[in-house]
Amino acid sequence: MIEAVERLIKNRFLSFEDFVNIKNCGKEETEYLFSKSREQAREYYGNKIFVRGLIEFTNHCKNDCFYCGIRASNRSLNRYRLSEEEIIECCKNGYSLGFRTFVLQGGEDGYYGDDDYVRIIKRIKSDYPDCALTLSIGERSRESYEKYFGAGADRYLLRHETADEEHYKRLHPKRMSFENRMRCIRDLKEIGYQTGVGFMVGSPFQTDESIYKDLCFIKETSPEMVGIGPFIPHKDTPFAEYARGGCELTLKLLAIIRLMLPSVLLPATTALGTIDPMGREKGILAGANVVMPNLSPVMHRKDYALYDNKICTGEEAAECRFCLSRRIESIGYEIVTDRGDYKSP
Ligand code: SAH
Repeated sequence: MIEAVERLIKNRFLSFEDFVNIKNCGKEETEYLFSKSREQAREYYGNKIFVRGLIEFTNHCKNDCFYCGIRASNRSLNRYRLSEEEIIECCKNGYSLGFRTFVLQGGEDGYYGDDDYVRIIKRIKSDYPDCALTLSIGERSRESYEKYFGAGADRYLLRHETADEEHYKRLHPKRMSFENRMRCIRDLKEIGYQTGVGFMVGSPFQTDESIYKDLCFIKETSPEMVGIGPFIPHKDTPFAEYARGGCELTLKLLAIIRLMLPSVLLPATTALGTIDPMGREKGILAGANVVMPNLSPVMHRKDYALYDNKICTGEEAAECRFCLSRRIESIGYEIVTDRGDYKSP
């Protein structure tokens, strides 16, 4: 099994057999894997952890993904959207707390047109010229992506969710298409965004084969960012009764991705922190180098529940920021005030 890790480091890739070996390996070998992935992250980023201020600006969504708590069919939540002023207020608060990247994330909300996005992007970039702006607003046309990029957006997160088309169909309603999601990712890369893909670990119907396809897709696409976290069921979705994804497997996948794409920006996600009280710390010790605390107004936090029991929904941004700093320092790392751009390998 140590050999499987050595091959992964040497080839920056792994065979299906080596993936299964690593997935099933024991404690000692897992420690070895994590020591290597941790070392790899340190080579590029030292003990520095980048923070992204997440602004969940709307929970309205036209889509109906079977796993997601803010899906259109869920009638048991309060829908909200932030005004432009409220978004700017989040940035202002975030800036004073040392954030130099803002992430605008939301459901696919038809209320905002391209002109609205362009105006908001320009406003944020002119008010905070030393900050990076990341969008995470789902599938749009190539023309729209071009407009947002032209307005100054730097990065775009669009998890592919699964690289296995049959699996994709079991996670999404018929009117959503795998092909369009892939088209979006291609467009984002071509336009020049620092692009993020990713998937949920342990989503219903996921198999070793489909995870391996995800790894192949990630390797081929060579994105600047990869977001992975455990699937966690939400009580008001069709997947309410499915089991959540595992912490251990998520950590191993973080380590594998770090070794495949040595300088990738890799968050220890809130979902990972939700299934294990030390999840984010463990993620960093497995090779993650980014955390994404919430800057959204506390009054709306509970309504942006993609899954149950999400952490940090009751705390102000400042509390989250200081709590995270303490946690990260306790494992020998530090949060830095920096845009935290991708470094080419
Ligand atoms: N509408 C945007 C943002 C989606 S929310 C988009 O389509 O890209 C960000 C991510 O949360 C999703 O890509 C999905 O991978 C994750 N997510 C959604 N529901 C989840 C759940 N029940 N458990 C864990 N992660 C979930």
